Amino acid sequence: MQDVVEKVYEQVVARNRGEAEFHQAVREVLESLGPVISKHPHYAEDGLLERIVEPERQIMFRVPWVDDAGAVHVNRGFRIEFNSALGPYKGGLRFHPSVNAGIIKFLGFEQIFKNALTGQGIGGGKGGSDFDPHGRSDAEVMRFCQSFMTELSRHIGPNTDVPAGDIGVGGREIGYLFGQYKRLRNSYDAGVLTGKGLAWGGSLARTEATGYGTVLFAQSMLATKGDSLEGKKIAVSGAGNVAIYAIEKAQQLGAKPITFSDSSGYVVDEAGVDLELLKQVKEVERGRVADYVSRRPGARLVTEGRPWDVPVDVALPCATQNELDADSAASLLRNGCAVVAEGANMPCTPEAIEAFQAAGILYAPGKASNAGGVATSALEMEQNAGRTRWDFATAEAKLTGIMADIHDSCVAAAETYGRPGDYVLGANAAGFTRVADVMIAHGIV
Ligand code: GLU
Repeated sequence: MQDVVEKVYEQVVARNRGEAEFHQAVREVLESLGPVISKHPHYAEDGLLERIVEPERQIMFRVPWVDDAGAVHVNRGFRIEFNSALGPYKGGLRFHPSVNAGIIKFLGFEQIFKNALTGQGIGGGKGGSDFDPHGRSDAEVMRFCQSFMTELSRHIGPNTDVPAGDIGVGGREIGYLFGQYKRLRNSYDAGVLTGKGLAWGGSLARTEATGYGTVLFAQSMLATKGDSLEGKKIAVSGAGNVAIYAIEKAQQLGAKPITFSDSSGYVVDEAGVDLELLKQVKEVERGRVADYVSRRPGARLVTEGRPWDVPVDVALPCATQNELDADSAASLLRNGCAVVAEGANMPCTPEAIEAFQAAGILYAPGKASNAGGVATSALEMEQNAGRTRWDFATAEAKLTGIMADIHDSCVAAAETYGRPGDYVLGANAAGFTRVADVMIAHGIV
C-alpha cells in the first residue's frame, strides 16, 4: 500500500477496533487507490480519504419486542448512513445473528462504490439487526419489524435514506416495515423503501435483479475472451434470492448450475438444478436444502465443506462474506474453474482473490457484479417518483444495460490505471473517482 493510503488505513483500524470485516473492505479499496492517487494526487488532499472512510452518521438503537409466548427480547438495530455525495443513502437491511457495527459498516462502505458504479444518483448506507428471523412466526417477525421501524422511521425518507432488503429481509419484512412507516408518518411515501410488493409500489424484476445481474456480469467477462456461459458448469452457493435468480439466468443462458447451499450443507445435483423445486422449497415453504434432496432423485446433500470442491467452470458465491477462502480458491483453480463472479458482498477472502488474480482467471468483486439489485432498487424509486409502473421487459432491459455499463466502466478504469483485466482495481477506481469528484465539488462537508 502507498504511504498516504497506509496512514488512512491505520487510522481506520485504530478508530474501529475489532471490526475485522470493515478493515478488510477498507483495505481492499485503499489498496486499489495507489495508482489512482499517483496519477491524480489531488484525491489525497483536503482530507478526502479520511472523510470517505468515516460514516456521515451512525445510528444504533434498542429494538424490544415480545414473542408469541409473551417473553420480551431485546435486539440491537443499526443504520449506518455512510456517504450522501451522489444521492440519498441507499442500501439494504440485514437481519442475522452475526450482525454488529463492523459488519454493517463494511456493507455500508462497499455500498458507496457499488452504488456509484450504477451511475444512478444514490449514496451509500446499510442497516440491520442481530435479530434472527429463522424459526420465528409471521406475527413475531411483524412485531420485531414494527419495533425496528418505530425508531428507524425518524432517520429515513425518500430523499434522505432509502433502505431495502439483504440477508433475512425479503418481501415479508419490507411489507411489515412499510406498513409501520406509513402509519407513523401518516404519509404514503412509496419511495422510502425498495423491494416492495408489486401491488404497493414494487418494481418488476427487483426480486430477480441481483442474481440476474451477477450472471450477466459473468457473461460480459467471458465475452472479453470471445467465450460465453453456454454449456458451462456452475457452482452456486446460497439458496436465497440471489442464488435462486442467478441459477435462473444461468439456465436461460444455456449454462448448467449444479450446486446451491444453506447453513445445513450444500447440494450437488449433477443433472442440473430443478429450479421449480428449489423455489418451492425455499420461497414457498421456507424450508432447508435437505428438503430439496429428499424429493429429487440423484441429488445429494453434503454437510461438510463448501460447494467449491465440486469441479466446475464458473463459481458464483451468493451466500455471505468470507465464504470462499484460500483453500476453496485452490480447489476451484485445481479443477479448472476460469470465472468467479460474486453475488454476495465480499464472499471471497483477500487470499482467495489473490489466488484468482495470480492465476489470471476472470474474477469480479461483488461491488461490480452484484450491483444489479441496488440498481433495480433505484429503478423502483424512479417509478415511485413518477407514479408509474414498467413491465418486466422494460425493467429487465434497463438492468441489462446498467450491468453492461458497469462492466465496461471497470474494464476502462483497469486499463486507464495500467492493470488491464483487473476488475478489482477497475471497480474500486471507477466507483471511487465518481464519488470523490462530487465530494470535492461539495466542499469540506
Ligand atoms: N442489499 C442489496 C445490496 O447489497 C440491495 C440494496 C438495495 O436494494 O438498496 O446491494
